[in-house]
Amino acid sequence: MIDVKNLCKSFGDHQVLKGVNEHIEKGEKVVIIGPSGSGKSTFLRCLNLLEEPTSGDIIFEGQNITSKVTDINLIRRKMGMVFQQFNLFPHLTVRENIKLAPVKLKIMTEDEADKRAIQLLERVGLPDKADSYPVQLSGGQQQRIAIARALAMNPDVMLFDEPTSALDPEMVGEVLEIMKELADDGMTMVVVTHEMGFAREVGTRVLFMDGGNIVEQNEPHAFFTNPKHPRLKDFLSKVL
Ligand code: ADP
Ligand code: MG
Repeated sequence: MIDVKNLCKSFGDHQVLKGVNEHIEKGEKVVIIGPSGSGKSTFLRCLNLLEEPTSGDIIFEGQNITSKVTDINLIRRKMGMVFQQFNLFPHLTVRENIKLAPVKLKIMTEDEADKRAIQLLERVGLPDKADSYPVQLSGGQQQRIAIARALAMNPDVMLFDEPTSALDPEMVGEVLEIMKELADDGMTMVVVTHEMGFAREVGTRVLFMDGGNIVEQNEPHAFFTNPKHPRLKDFLSKVL
């Protein structure tokens, strides 16, 4: 589904991604871990071109999306993204937040988008919040709405950038539970997280990023029980 070839990204003379190669299959749940500043967010943001790669190729569903002729909006439609800080529009209700993109991009009529919004609110367990504003919701509820909003476009892959890092501890579980259900439904997912339990239970593959490269990857059991790279051993000894 996604093929990343020699992806480099620099901000000025600071090279953040140093030639990342990665291949993600349909249905995989890829979990990315690594120290702060190692380039995890930049990698994720390059995948859907929120950041423009400096060089390298990203092939998504057979199409080279780094080519200048690619319609970026078409790609973003197929890649849902969830951020650490929810990023809901504060002046719109929950329902309006979810409907906005599909209606604006003329993918759905108002009625269709409304039906879809209600369906998604049920899916994330918040059917009674349709007409609330984000400020009236807890952090965990806001993040569940952000997930519903990302799903409104029927994406082929969901990208999550530390979706639970900004939450109070008691709200982490409800968001992870929604993500787990999404995984069980077969969604292709790429998840940057510090939740090692999630990586173990839900991940089909775990990647360790350090210094702008993926330095080790494995299926979860081997990844956590038999790390090879000294940096990964050191990292795991601090977080586990
Ligand atoms: P991580 O998500 O692993 O913590 P990031 O991808 O956010 O790492 O950042 C990697 C490095 O790139 C950091 O040194 C960060 O300061 C730098 N960086 C990220 N975004 C920008 C930006 N828009 N402009 C300049 N530097 C950036
Ligand atoms: Mg980050």
